Amino acid sequence: MSEQIEVDVAILGAGPVGGTLACLLARAGIATAVIDRAALPPMEHPDFDGRAYAIAAGSRRVLEEAGLWAELPYVPGAITDIRVSDGRLGRAASRLFLHFDRREAGDDIEAEAFGWMLEARALRMAVNAALDASPDLHVFAPAEAKVVRHADHAIVTLQSGQVIRARLVVAAEGRNSPLREQAGIRTTRIAYGQTGIVGAIAHELPHNGCALEHFLPAGPFAQLPMAGTAGAPNLSAFVWTERDATAQRLMALDEASFARELQRRLGTHLGQVRVMGRRWSYSLSALHAERYTAERLALVGDAAHGVHPIAGQGLNLGFRDAGALGRLILAAHAAGEDVGGAALLRAYQAQRRPDSLAMLAATDALDRLFSTDNRAVRLVRDLGIAAVHRMPRLKRAFMRAAMGV
Ligand SMILES: Cc1cc2nc3c(=O)[nH]c(=O)nc-3n(C[C@H](O)[C@H](O)[C@H](O)COP(=O)(O)OP(=O)(O)OC[C@H]3O[C@@H](n4cnc5c(N)ncnc54)[C@H](O)[C@@H]3O)c2cc1C
Repeated sequence: MSEQIEVDVAILGAGPVGGTLACLLARAGIATAVIDRAALPPMEHPDFDGRAYAIAAGSRRVLEEAGLWAELPYVPGAITDIRVSDGRLGRAASRLFLHFDRREAGDDIEAEAFGWMLEARALRMAVNAALDASPDLHVFAPAEAKVVRHADHAIVTLQSGQVIRARLVVAAEGRNSPLREQAGIRTTRIAYGQTGIVGAIAHELPHNGCALEHFLPAGPFAQLPMAGTAGAPNLSAFVWTERDATAQRLMALDEASFARELQRRLGTHLGQVRVMGRRWSYSLSALHAERYTAERLALVGDAAHGVHPIAGQGLNLGFRDAGALGRLILAAHAAGEDVGGAALLRAYQAQRRPDSLAMLAATDALDRLFSTDNRAVRLVRDLGIAAVHRMPRLKRAFMRAAMGV
């Protein structure tokens, strides 16, 4: 029988959000345990699998604080321009509505880009290596845990018999968080009837750091610039939203036909395209927890919220959770206060819930506004976009919000 260990914080889930929070805390000397259902191989060098995240400037800061940015094995690609266009299938490169240039966002912001395209495997490798190397971290994976929360502590019991006593438990288990359910925290869910198809493409011509968001009636199609590799110097990620039935048909196509359909949406400005790695599909829905906290418990990342990928903000919200909770824990620890007490949990919820709710509402509204063929809605929307274009201050505000600064 293993002996009981005492930590300040026990994190369930070592995905991008839980893993980052664990590294951030351990780096500052906070006794932390992290438990994941799945194995976390530290030396894994998986093949390129086509998945990537759009990381905003605010998220990069959190990854830097956690010591992870410098450890990424592949350089993230910078997004320096964003083109937003609106059109119909077959007229892919139709009217250009908005062009955001990083230089217009203002000189007072340190970040040199709107964001970065980070390969999912690169982040996984950096997180797993850091978890393995950190002496202040207790890592248990693969492991199943049972959690009992009390007024002044929580007890986490692993199947192996290991017992962990913690001041605070963090649920970072993703959308179907068992801890959230166990705490009786209800969620609001919105089903979109849409599927997101994601992957990567190699193309003939350079992207020059430019991302494209092309609004089509069935949903948005985005091309996001990635850093090239030796085999594919011109590389981009794509996030392609379609109605469920169309997506099913597209996923079943052979590679050449799939690439042809993709090219119809993308247009020809990048030359011929070739799909790299796998294509992935996700049924899209939004989710929001009615509370982010319970006694001795905080929810972070997808356990607390899931948003439409229309603005590529899902993981960014999670990183903001990790940053906010991490900083509150560090401050409480430095002041000799309880890191799982009611005051800290109240402050965390107040900092994070309104921000995520606003993003959920904004991405939901964007989807309703753009995924339509209704002529009246299209007209009002197009007038609105044209107005933004003429108002540099409003445009700058949009850019800064997207950068998370
Ligand atoms: C189509 C699509 C495109 C997207 N594109 C972007 C993008 O461009 N940019 C962006 O910011 N976001 C994007 N997202 C969102 C992003 O993928 C998620 O927000 C992110 O993965 C959430 O991270 P997480 O760590 O909270 O949860 P997860 O990634 O779900 O990780 C949860 C972890 O917890 C573990 N776990 C689960 N249950 C337990 C348990 N009971 N005990 C212990 N461990 C457990 C799992 O093994 C896993 O390691 C996209 C999502 C979709 C669907």
